[in-house]
Amino acid sequence: MERNKLNILGVAVDKVDRKGAMAAYKELLTREGCDLIVTPNSEIVVRAGEDEELARILKEAALVIPDGIGLVYASRILKDPLTERVTGVDFLSDILADAAKEGYGVYILGSKPGTADAAAEAMKKAYPGLIISGTHHGYFKPEEERALAEEIGRSGARFLCVALGAPKQEKFVEAYKDILNVRCAMGVGGSLDVWAGNVKRAPEFYQKHGLEWLYRLLQEPSRIGRMMALPVFMLRVIFSKKEKKQ
Ligand code: UDP
Repeated sequence: MERNKLNILGVAVDKVDRKGAMAAYKELLTREGCDLIVTPNSEIVVRAGEDEELARILKEAALVIPDGIGLVYASRILKDPLTERVTGVDFLSDILADAAKEGYGVYILGSKPGTADAAAEAMKKAYPGLIISGTHHGYFKPEEERALAEEIGRSGARFLCVALGAPKQEKFVEAYKDILNVRCAMGVGGSLDVWAGNVKRAPEFYQKHGLEWLYRLLQEPSRIGRMMALPVFMLRVIFSKKEKKQ
């Protein structure tokens, strides 16, 4: 698979639009072994600078799609614009549609007890025929991890959707990729909460103007600390560009 990537603060992001991301995913499904898809936002890119394991996981990921408007702005500053932002929520919908059409199973892992089940029900309604191979909540103890990974391995799923928050979800996949027995796994952050109806997705106005972060902040003001990652990220991108020029 040929990849066209853009380096943002040391993280290689695939320059794909929604269609391109899907084409890449379809190719990953044909490959043996568990490939990881990561959907980073600016917070994760900043974090990768301080977390070596995360940086390595991003480097080795089969597909790194530009979720997060910060990455799109960064690409413009770096004068190598990404075509569009591909959100994890949208990309997950495309994958579920594909799974329903092709008839392979999906395992839904993560979020609070009850949420994965509610999300799975909503997904089956949205994509009739979708096979849910299994579900499990995301609040398990470290000593329960391996058994859970083995359960996923036995479920027959070909795609694993994992919502433990980043980078926990990516680290889980990395640690157990040899026994998960899926072709592809993707960290989806808060997407199960959206599917289950716990959290509302930003109205179109916010989505269109790159203001989903503002909507989310208004809904969950406690996220303000985490959101400071965005201006920090933008400043670092500007400085990294200046450094390159000198
Ligand atoms: N979550 C989980 N286990 C944990 C921590 C978080 O299942 O140990 C779930 C949480 O319930 C939420 C999802 O992970 O549904 C994503 O959390 P967050 O909104 O923090 O994700 P992000 O913004 O990083 O994508």
